[in-house]
Amino acid sequence: MSVIVVGSTALDSIKTPKSSNPRLLGGSASHACVAASFFAKTNLVGIVGNDFPSRYLNLYQRHKIGLEALQRVPGKTFHWSGEYEVNMNNRRTLATELGVFETFTPELPESLRDVPYVLLANIAPELQHHVLDQIRKPKFVIADTMDLWLNIALESLLKLLRRVDAFVLNDSEARQLTKEDNLPAALRKIHRLGPKYVIVKKGEHGSVLSSPAGLFVAPAFPLRKVVDPTGAGDSFVGGLIGYLASRTGSIDSNLRRAIVHGSAVASFCCEGFGLNRITKTTRPAIAERVRALEKMTCF
Ligand code: AMP
Repeated sequence: MSVIVVGSTALDSIKTPKSSNPRLLGGSASHACVAASFFAKTNLVGIVGNDFPSRYLNLYQRHKIGLEALQRVPGKTFHWSGEYEVNMNNRRTLATELGVFETFTPELPESLRDVPYVLLANIAPELQHHVLDQIRKPKFVIADTMDLWLNIALESLLKLLRRVDAFVLNDSEARQLTKEDNLPAALRKIHRLGPKYVIVKKGEHGSVLSSPAGLFVAPAFPLRKVVDPTGAGDSFVGGLIGYLASRTGSIDSNLRRAIVHGSAVASFCCEGFGLNRITKTTRPAIAERVRALEKMTCF
């Protein structure tokens, strides 16, 4: 079955202590779509300006990502720049230039309104609502977010949480949202806001799923060298929904394995700048990391 992803489509300028990489393909939707495309037909909802390089459109096409709902308009593509410290867990946003995102209204063609798997990747909650409004009977809806929306669009985000099956956020965002330092207490509060499934990402320490079946803890794939973690969270959730869409059976019976597939895909994202490394991986290479994760956690 197929997947639809709305999120940012960006040019990212990324600085690490070792190098500077201007205008890489980035954005939450780009990372998530590429990750999902390893498992299922994936459609991108986004917007780019006329400065968007055609080689990046070709990259989407190589991954067979549906571009029917990608708007191409005059103006500048969303540009984000960030800088990592030696400890790559610490990142600072240097600039966010909205460009064509300032006037973006996502419109889904008729052919995409029945897509069963919906990923509302990190973008303004109003836009996430707008996409969800246009989808008729989704089978599974998962939303991602970032601290910015907790700060400036909390009301809209809270409304969204009542409309989704699953919500993914990182541990600091879970603390900010619930004012709870204790993870089980925070999870309980987030469930009360609406989602049946809550997934808290803990960076290199993996993730925790809370569902009616209880808790599930998945490690991140241990990497000896992280080149650029930008988009790891987006790749995680993209891999997760792509895997779910590729399976028959219930969400409950597939979600744990989907999370482990998300972890495996996200590890490839961290091994290169932007999408450089992940675009070169393969299904067998992902499967090998899934098996390694399985071995690491079996007792
Ligand atoms: P992550 O590393 O998972 O936080 O995701 C990084 C991606 O988020 C980058 O590719 C950015 O282009 C994108 N991004 C940064 N700020 C925003 C924003 N305000 N809205 C949407 N996407 C953003």
